[in-house]
Amino acid sequence: MSTKICVLGAGGRMGQSVIRALFEQSALVLSAAVDRPDGEVVGKDCGALIGQDRTGVSVSDDLAAHLEPQTVVIDFSSPDALMAALPVLESRDCALVTGTTGLDAAQAERLDAASQRIPVLRSDNFSVGVALMRALAQRAAEVLGEQADIEIIEAHHRRKVDAPSGTALAVGRSVAQGLGIELDSVADWTRHGQVGPRGDGRVGFSVIRGGDIVGEHTALFAMAGERLEITHKATDRMIFARGAVRAAGWLAAQDAGLYALEDLLG
Ligand code: NAP
Repeated sequence: MSTKICVLGAGGRMGQSVIRALFEQSALVLSAAVDRPDGEVVGKDCGALIGQDRTGVSVSDDLAAHLEPQTVVIDFSSPDALMAALPVLESRDCALVTGTTGLDAAQAERLDAASQRIPVLRSDNFSVGVALMRALAQRAAEVLGEQADIEIIEAHHRRKVDAPSGTALAVGRSVAQGLGIELDSVADWTRHGQVGPRGDGRVGFSVIRGGDIVGEHTALFAMAGERLEITHKATDRMIFARGAVRAAGWLAAQDAGLYALEDLLG
């Protein structure tokens, strides 16, 4: 029997892309779609939402009313929406693939706690290219960490609400792992005014917001006389959607626990 999927945040940029990605394959079937109460997409057919044939699955504003047991929920909504959904997922024994970024420490802890009862796969970026970028950045930090000034630069569309992006933070954590330190102890999150010369061993972050940029990340290793740049550019958010759908198929067969994209990619 096909695995049932519920899309949380169905009316959003990523939610709509996930619905598209589900229609591209046949192993997983869209069984529910949920968006914000009073959201303008509520009541719309999911097919119509993305300009395709009707599916018979309409966007709801009531997760509890539409979530069948053992469904895999794919979430790209907001930290608050995700937190509100967790008790429902736990009570129905549903797995969760979440790409929502900007969780604070307490929200991340709550997600960890949920993973003791249900399978949870969390990734700040569902692209295979970014997973490889993180591995390369970690290796570069191991080799060049002593001599290089390391900066992480990210760019996103003008509607993104959290900064630096979850992916930039993840790249930063990979760099910190390569350096053998905690990211918080070396991160320069912002610079403004008379900040003085750059400190040794710091990892600086720069954030660009504008237009319809899907997502671009660079890990820059600047040395005397040369520099290394590791860059990933996403031009189509379907890469994230397809990654999340693939993750959902994999997660359906897993026991309760907290998983990362790397667990699925090996
Ligand atoms: P978006 O377009 O704003 O979509 C979010 C959707 O969630 C909107 O339709 C929003 O409705 C809806 N929502 C808000 N409150 C809700 C609730 N209580 N219940 C259900 N739905 C609710 O944002 P996006 O660009 O798709 O991004 C969503 C999240 O995914 C962000 O955290 C983003 O950083 C992250 N993201 C992750 C990846 C990755 O690969 N991990 C890739 C891209 C984006 P309203 O608009 O009506 O408020």
